[in-house]
Amino acid sequence: MIDHTHDAAASSWVEGADDHADFPVQNLPLGVFSLASGTRHIGSAIGNYTVDLAGLADAGLLPDALRPALCAQTLNALFRLDGATRRTLRHALFALLTDPAQRAAVSPWLHPMDQVDLHLPFAIGDYSDFYVGIHHATNIGKLFRPDSPLLPNYKHVPIGYHGRASSVRVSGTPVIRPKGQIKAPDADQPTYAPCRRLDYELELGIWIAGDHALGETIPITDAWDRIAGFSLLNDWSARDIQAWEYQPLGPFLSKSFHSTISPWVITAEALAPFRVAQPARAQGDPSPLPYLWDQADQARGALSITLSATLASAAMRESGMTALELSRGTARAAMYWTPAQIVTHQAANGCDLHSGDLLGTGTLSGPTRGSEGSLMEMSQGGKHPIRLPTGQERCFLEDGDELILYARAERDGYRSIGFGPCSGIVTPSRS
Ligand code: MN
Repeated sequence: MIDHTHDAAASSWVEGADDHADFPVQNLPLGVFSLASGTRHIGSAIGNYTVDLAGLADAGLLPDALRPALCAQTLNALFRLDGATRRTLRHALFALLTDPAQRAAVSPWLHPMDQVDLHLPFAIGDYSDFYVGIHHATNIGKLFRPDSPLLPNYKHVPIGYHGRASSVRVSGTPVIRPKGQIKAPDADQPTYAPCRRLDYELELGIWIAGDHALGETIPITDAWDRIAGFSLLNDWSARDIQAWEYQPLGPFLSKSFHSTISPWVITAEALAPFRVAQPARAQGDPSPLPYLWDQADQARGALSITLSATLASAAMRESGMTALELSRGTARAAMYWTPAQIVTHQAANGCDLHSGDLLGTGTLSGPTRGSEGSLMEMSQGGKHPIRLPTGQERCFLEDGDELILYARAERDGYRSIGFGPCSGIVTPSRS
């Protein structure tokens, strides 16, 4: 799975690509963009440029078999193709962008990134969100049950809930503060009001490739064939609405008002060098049931990805301050269950998964202070505010706050690749 497209010495003729933090030629993420004309095209990112893959296909520069899927306005059809066919795209694109003899033919299809609008990469048929960040689950659990933060099922079953696909938006879309039923602990009755404890959740989104029929399942040995790739996901959360509504059926309107996804799909192929061993389960942890267990997945089914989050209040941005880094951690240290275990479990009851379905990992918090993936954890339930460089304090997000998530795949011997930002600015509730 690791091949010449991952060679750290590979170089692109596209100006600036070799030095680009996120999008050197080893990455080649996929997404959907438009120019001023408004028509959506499938593209890839190379340095500070978007390359128009529909244009390249029309010009006969990419394999003919890919052309109908590349001329669509979402990635759904492309990721419905069999794995071998869609992998030919990475090789063909890599060849075009590394061979200087192709410069004249390809250059008309390069557009500076600041001249394109990026859109949701898929028409998302369904979205669910897991809870595999064991330190997040522990930190949150401790707020309610200091002696037994993890519920008894946690180490047996990858816990999740159903999200809402209709309100997933691409990075950069303003996030309108939700309204909902809130009942303060000391109040007799709930009120309907704007959320006062608005939080973010730092997650990875797993994009599904391919389809299967109702009643079928995904053997864990096949799970990676069903992973198109990954984006950053911010599962914005209204903690006060959540606290009142979540029992007994779990989160509902406290989550479904808006979820933000980064526009570029970092493909499973691009991430091949960054697949590492899953940390061994702690002594005394139960063995997962056989349908969730695969030795090869344990050996190289975790991801070597560094994650971080920054916050800039409106006052910070107005005075030109750089954003404050809230946290930094790794996906590997955070995730108790692997992406393959998540995908296999999602289909374990026989529900059908389709190209473009989105599965969130859950909040990815590390084991130590400074690596928490939400403000709820950082402020310990709103008790310990974070101080911003302006002197402002935050337990939860205020209107005007800009929250940006970042991710970077890193491993010795390989060119590191980035996901691009996943950002949102909080705006006031609609009256
Ligand atoms: Mn979540």
